[in-house]
Amino acid sequence: MKPVVENLYVHVPFCTHLCPYCDFPKERLAGNRMRDFLAGLRAEWSAACEEFDLQPRHVFFGGGTPTALSPALMEQLLAVAPWGEAEEWSVEANPDGFSENKARQLAEAGVTRLSLGAQAFRPQDLAWLGRKHDRADIRQAVQSARIAGIRSLNLDLIYGLPDQGPSEWQETMAEACALQPDSISAYAITPEEGTELAQRIARGEWSPDEDREAVLFLLTCRFLEARDYASYEVSNFSRPGHECRHHQSVWAGEDYLGLGPGAVSTVAGRRWRNLRDTGSYAQSWLLGSGPRRQEEEEREPSQIRTERILLGLRTRAGLAEQGLPDREEWLETLVRKGWARRENGRFHLTARGRLRADEVAAILT
Ligand code: SF4
Repeated sequence: MKPVVENLYVHVPFCTHLCPYCDFPKERLAGNRMRDFLAGLRAEWSAACEEFDLQPRHVFFGGGTPTALSPALMEQLLAVAPWGEAEEWSVEANPDGFSENKARQLAEAGVTRLSLGAQAFRPQDLAWLGRKHDRADIRQAVQSARIAGIRSLNLDLIYGLPDQGPSEWQETMAEACALQPDSISAYAITPEEGTELAQRIARGEWSPDEDREAVLFLLTCRFLEARDYASYEVSNFSRPGHECRHHQSVWAGEDYLGLGPGAVSTVAGRRWRNLRDTGSYAQSWLLGSGPRRQEEEEREPSQIRTERILLGLRTRAGLAEQGLPDREEWLETLVRKGWARRENGRFHLTARGRLRADEVAAILT
């Protein structure tokens, strides 16, 4: 029997410009590469239909910037597969270049959720992040999504930037909340290896400040929860019913199939990654030559358990205590420290505990 897959991720690796902190598989827009990508994606989809029983419930288009494609190429992307049959179809977008026409195109195809990479509002923050949009573009993009009738709107924000103390970060969050998004994702800036940001740090031009990030994280929880954005994962806050179902399914340990260059899949106990380079990815599916997957591994039960604990601790759902039978003493210690609480057979981290989710996971695994 073919494995059933309900969660699909599609990686669209194109951006109009490249941000210095980003380590996702991505490249600048180029017509021939985009056409290769689309041809490869169609071929990958056909092969996936043979190998798996695909019943899309949650589809997530990430990148890169899926909406950076021209309207004609986006039309083709939206028509590669019956994505619109899913209960939730999320698409990531950037405020620059996101027009009302693109918003309509997405809504008409059946997109239910737009995740807009606002990241910041202050000009100095946007400049440091290498972003090309300004606050007017963010407002315009939000308005376009609303006019087009996209059901759910998420804003992505980044904190821990230079010269960004609690009051500056609070102003950023207030500006985001004033736009009435349905959910907000707030991430601490993370210097990933091999990025320009990592080089800046190596040259001594800047360094992240973990203590300040911890203060800003606790402020984020207080500020957003007071405005009805409940925390449903360490970095994700939502009004009721607007949680990202795709992410929730993945965090709960459900299988997911990743399509597109560099996309990761976990299906039936195996995990693999597609080739990262767009040209090699497309060729691997179109010509059937050479390996299509990298880093393929059979997952050990201990690996699965460790990952479930780590992901579960980061979420509002927490962990089922019956899955932690020999850790009673630790659970009580963590509750006494104010890092966790126990409710109806489940173990949840408090905001202070979520700051130390990795540490707690190491104790409980
Ligand atoms: S727009 Fe997003 S995906 Fe593209 S380079 Fe910037 S952070 Fe990375």
